[in-house]
Amino acid sequence: MGQGAILIPLGRAHVLASMIMREARRAAIRVDALTAVGGLRRYEPAVESVAIVAVAPDSERRALLTEFTRLPFVLKSETPGDRSVALATERGDLTIHLTSPGQAGAALVWHTGSSRHVDLLQARAHARDLELVDARLKNRDGKPVPCPSEDDLYRRLDLPFIAPELRAGADEIVAAERGELPELVTEVNIRGDLHMHSTWSDGRDSAEEIVLAARQLGYEYVAITDHSRRAFASHTLAVEDVPRQREEIERLRSRIHGIDILHGIEVDMLTDGSLDFEDEVLEGFDIVLASLHVGGGQDGHRLTARYLEAIRHPLVNVITHPANRSPARSPGFDVDFDALFAAAADTGTAMEIDGAPGHLDMDGAVARRAAAAGVMVTIDSDCHRALWLARQMRFGVGTARRGWIEPKHVLNTGSVDDVRAFVARKRGRHG
Ligand SMILES: [Zn+2]
Ligand SMILES: [Zn+2]
Repeated sequence: MGQGAILIPLGRAHVLASMIMREARRAAIRVDALTAVGGLRRYEPAVESVAIVAVAPDSERRALLTEFTRLPFVLKSETPGDRSVALATERGDLTIHLTSPGQAGAALVWHTGSSRHVDLLQARAHARDLELVDARLKNRDGKPVPCPSEDDLYRRLDLPFIAPELRAGADEIVAAERGELPELVTEVNIRGDLHMHSTWSDGRDSAEEIVLAARQLGYEYVAITDHSRRAFASHTLAVEDVPRQREEIERLRSRIHGIDILHGIEVDMLTDGSLDFEDEVLEGFDIVLASLHVGGGQDGHRLTARYLEAIRHPLVNVITHPANRSPARSPGFDVDFDALFAAAADTGTAMEIDGAPGHLDMDGAVARRAAAAGVMVTIDSDCHRALWLARQMRFGVGTARRGWIEPKHVLNTGSVDDVRAFVARKRGRHG
């Protein structure tokens, strides 16, 4: 079982773990808690393996391991020890680790990783006459030290709780020690979604269906941002259709209350550095997102120049998925992010953290540099189906948290008036 080092994209890993947890609940498997762990919990764009920690009393362990092997969709199973079971399912492989309630905190931290973060914690444990080994915390005599929650484990190591997305094994422990951990953005902070596609381009649902779904999620505003005509998408918005789309959005505004609708566009940057729509057309939108979907074989230097041109354009408000990468498949463009960030901060242009599992871009590390450079970021779903609005926003928020992003760094934690003012400021500066 297992495919070795082949990486699993976050989206697929999430589907698999969610499926098994749903089936376990349906089968009424008697566990206190189930938590997806590993890279999935840390929102790694692509993960090495999928794992779940199940909390249950030791006396139940044997029986539970068997129950997991009998879940629907399980094709094959292996029980390498008495604490875990490896399942091969129709959607891929995953492992379930069992832990007792008294050691749940240690098991969650252990199996969530990263391995470098756990290494650092082990060293800290050692310095306190403790051992963090095999998903358990023990004292020097090998006796278990109770840590039912992750909070308990960190407290034993004289640290505050460190959010899973921060557990990279970099500088998070030093920051925690100094009381300098960020106040991470959460989904609750997100007041609107500024990037999504309707049937006017390659989206699956109508603008109306998307707006209604967004209102259901509690958003105060959305921007409908279809692809401009020359984007490499299966269906794009022709310039002739822009007035008709605007009329439809006007109709929706008069019919659907309780949510503001911005008429936006995701306009392509063309190979020669210009934008796919003329300025007169772009001026008619409430917000303009610009993206570089196709490198056209150009090197990093030339691509950076194309981005800089778009960033300096008075009508461009957000640069979407700037690396244009694809997790587990392509690393994306080799652009000079620091040059992009300096220009974005200078011109009042936002840079996007795109939650579509095919993007997850800017990724955490790059997003952290953007915020440090004073760039406003957006966190968007880039949704092509109303059904995925929440899921993709969650991936976007997880990716942002990997980049130590706080609410104050994010444009769409503000009100719709804040968003409109952000657009107006850049236009005004040049108008
Ligand atoms: Zn795009
Ligand atoms: Zn898009």
